[in-house]
Amino acid sequence: MSILVTGGTGYIGSHTCVELLNAGHEIVILDNLNNSHLEAVRRIERITGKKPVFIQGDIRDTQFIQKVLIDNKSTAVIHFAGLKAVGESCEQPLKYYDYNVNGTLCLLNAMQQAGVKTLVFSSSATVYGDPEKLPIQENSPLKATNPYGRSKLIVEEMLRDLYASDPNWHIAILRYFNPVGAHKSGLIGEDPKGIPNNLMPIVAQVAGGRREKLHIWGNDYPTPDGTGVRDYIHIVDLAIGHLKALEALDSAQCTAFNLGTGQGYSVMEVIHAFEHVSNKKITYEMAPRRSGDIAECYADPHLAKEQLGWEAKHGLREMCEDMWNWQVKNPQGYQ
Ligand code: NAD
Ligand code: UDP
Repeated sequence: MSILVTGGTGYIGSHTCVELLNAGHEIVILDNLNNSHLEAVRRIERITGKKPVFIQGDIRDTQFIQKVLIDNKSTAVIHFAGLKAVGESCEQPLKYYDYNVNGTLCLLNAMQQAGVKTLVFSSSATVYGDPEKLPIQENSPLKATNPYGRSKLIVEEMLRDLYASDPNWHIAILRYFNPVGAHKSGLIGEDPKGIPNNLMPIVAQVAGGRREKLHIWGNDYPTPDGTGVRDYIHIVDLAIGHLKALEALDSAQCTAFNLGTGQGYSVMEVIHAFEHVSNKKITYEMAPRRSGDIAECYADPHLAKEQLGWEAKHGLREMCEDMWNWQVKNPQGYQ
């Protein structure tokens, strides 16, 4: 009996594997290493003292996935595998629909054929687009504004249709806000290939001297200091959210949950917190707004608390401390 973790060597997947192993679950990691390193598997083993099964493969190969599920007597799937860069999704939309939509369709077909009907799916707060009301509740209007967001929204709709057609499915859709930080050990963390797009990895790389400066995309938003506000969530809290979701999936359902802290921080607040914990100056330059960005986004996380018994425990300081610890110990990532 095991849990199949697709994309399990990636940023969120690797941290979730640690929590699953620590909780006594058996796991099989499946990843094509498109955006991750095999070294993550060795690090997961170093942290937990348990060796996970690793299979290199692609979720778009239905027959292969079906065999993996049957051979390993899988009872559930946590599905992280996919692409996540908004800008790239605008340049190469078909690639995003192939990996994220077609990939998930192939996985669902394999699960159905193997009789595995329990799924935790990685969605994103991006499915809310530019929210009308804050904090964002799960029943807010859904309206993605780019191909990446639309690929998540299409999969969400697919999952709701699947459940409506066959109520034996147990599905949790987790809408992540902004995952940051790293495991306390500093052994696993985010290692974006190429130039990172997200704020926190860039801030960490500037503090570590790997990058010269940060561009702040806009200081004229209707926020207290004019810079964008987001709900940053510690990666270990997020990983534990998956464990809680899986444990709560004992009844048939298809439910979406926000995984955020409920607290928004501006770009300037993140910079100041990072400067404080790293004792480094973050050089930055003001720049025009980034196309497609919204002013403010933070979660109402109450549903996850009520139904999953989950809430985020780490604050911004710990997010920055653990991010900095990972950066100092792994200045070039896993390389
Ligand atoms: P990541 O790139 O670190 O991990 C994704 C993993 O999936 C990688 O290891 C990659 O090699 C693998 N993969 C990609 N395509 C595959 C395929 N066809 N077959 C097998 N493996 C494949 O990304 P992450 O930050 O860990 O994100 C995990 C999931 O969470 C993604 O679905 C992403 O869209 C979603 N998400 C991420 C964020 C974020 O800010 N990190 C926010 C919201 C949602
Ligand atoms: N941001 C920035 N400079 C960067 C990257 C991000 O000013 O180089 C800002 C961005 O405009 C937003 C916030 O930081 O207000 C978080 O951006 P990120 O890309 O990490 O998350 P998302 O916008 O997808 O929520």
